[in-house]
Amino acid sequence: MKNLQSAQIDALKKDVQGTVIAAGDAAYDSARQIWNAMVDKHPAAIVQCATTGDVVYAVNFAREHQVPLAVRGGGHNIAGSALRDDAIVIDLSKMKAVQVDAGARRASVEGGATLADFDAAAQAHGLATPLGINSTTGVAGLTLGGGFGWLSRQYGMTVDNLESAEVVTAAGDVLRASASQNTDLFWALRGGSGNFGVVTRFEFRLHPVGPEVLAGLIVYPFSQAKSVLQQYRAFMDQAPDDVSVWTVLRKAPPLPFLPESVHGQKVVVLALLYTGDPSQGEALVKPLHGFGTPLGTHVGAMPYVNWQQAFDPLLTPGARNYWKSHNFSALEDGLFDAVIEYVAKLPSPQCEIFFGAIGGATMRPAPDATAYAHRDARFVMNVHGRWDDPADDAAGIRWAREYFKASAPFASGGVYVNFLTDDEGERVKAAYGPNYGRLAQIKRQYDPANLFSSNQNIMPA
Ligand SMILES: Cc1cc2nc3c(=O)[nH]c(=O)nc-3n(C[C@H](O)[C@H](O)[C@H](O)COP(=O)(O)OP(=O)(O)OC[C@H]3O[C@@H](n4cnc5c(N)ncnc54)[C@H](O)[C@@H]3O)c2cc1C
Repeated sequence: MKNLQSAQIDALKKDVQGTVIAAGDAAYDSARQIWNAMVDKHPAAIVQCATTGDVVYAVNFAREHQVPLAVRGGGHNIAGSALRDDAIVIDLSKMKAVQVDAGARRASVEGGATLADFDAAAQAHGLATPLGINSTTGVAGLTLGGGFGWLSRQYGMTVDNLESAEVVTAAGDVLRASASQNTDLFWALRGGSGNFGVVTRFEFRLHPVGPEVLAGLIVYPFSQAKSVLQQYRAFMDQAPDDVSVWTVLRKAPPLPFLPESVHGQKVVVLALLYTGDPSQGEALVKPLHGFGTPLGTHVGAMPYVNWQQAFDPLLTPGARNYWKSHNFSALEDGLFDAVIEYVAKLPSPQCEIFFGAIGGATMRPAPDATAYAHRDARFVMNVHGRWDDPADDAAGIRWAREYFKASAPFASGGVYVNFLTDDEGERVKAAYGPNYGRLAQIKRQYDPANLFSSNQNIMPA
């Protein structure tokens, strides 16, 4: 690999339709910001592509000049893989168009669209597909790692709803991958992360959802945590697929429906969505209100797009974030004891531990049906360390790592590739699980020189 000369950057600027931002340009520092402020990387040039042709040009340019490459969708990956020092960054954030064919229940989504872009276009027709819980996340990175959210119990992982993808390969070819074209590539894209090329367009299957759904929060005191968690476990054992409830343990934000005295106190939050008729859902979710004595509740019919953005205020870009994650096929009492011990010593008011409920439709495909392998996972836990001051890094990271260790005996072994931090290289194989070998073979076919290596990397076989 070698550094780019300014004449080469000038040529790049002249030849692409989008914008090329290099070190020294006024927009450089803002263009190299991503969600996690702990990431501070200095690419050689950021190519904000306008067309698939720009992507082809940038891939060929990086390969021919032997310059490292990184690909940026929504810029949310915690490991900071969207950026790389001295690299060409293919930044898709200007390619975010979403077209919906309501009759065919299909969405065509450009590679830089966010969940908010997708949900807005699909919900205009009362349609949706499973995406994540923070609307500024990129559709691309989320999908390529598997993708799950409030609709996953009913409609599966995001990848289970992918119909096709347009991919710019390491050779600069534009291929279509689907169940009938380049089928091995299509398999690999559904969980193999950004290893196989730049996806410029995704086509998804859509489902009728909302536009009004029953959703909201029920907040319990931390002192009742163990009993609430045990009842939560029993509730989820019986819950139909159209109900999704996640548990979050943290300090209460200043939510308007909570008494002021509760703000800043440790709490257990149940966050719920029912996708059926809201009036019928009330009875279904009623037991959740009786797990103890709630400090506050805010549950009712609301637009699905509002629920998709409900957590955005707690997940704004610009904070320092450090994550640790496990998958669980069951929630054991020992795990509850561990989580209670560590939530009792939260290192900052923004830190939290959540258990996201998947299961249902996410468990029905075979582990080798798509590259995403963790079909045994019923819950995905994330230890979300978050603070603003770099001086808090050491204490926050230590807390996350210690709880991660304490909870490991209860985990099912795999890990969600999209929650890995950049110091977890040794967990990458576990993230691809039994599918790693086939992924490495397909990587050899489509990217033998590992041009796409700024990701949770699969070495070509
Ligand atoms: C606040 C927050 C909430 C989240 N919630 C959820 C959730 O509910 N469910 C869930 O499943 N995940 C969730 N995630 C994790 C999320 O799926 C990953 O961070 C994902 O990598 C983000 O994708 P991105 O495009 O925004 O990221 P980026 O950092 O831009 O991209 C990540 C990687 O994906 C690859 N990539 C990106 N775009 C392309 C493309 N067009 N073609 C090829 N490769 C590409 C590249 O390798 C890149 O390094 C959340 C993340 C955050 C920060």
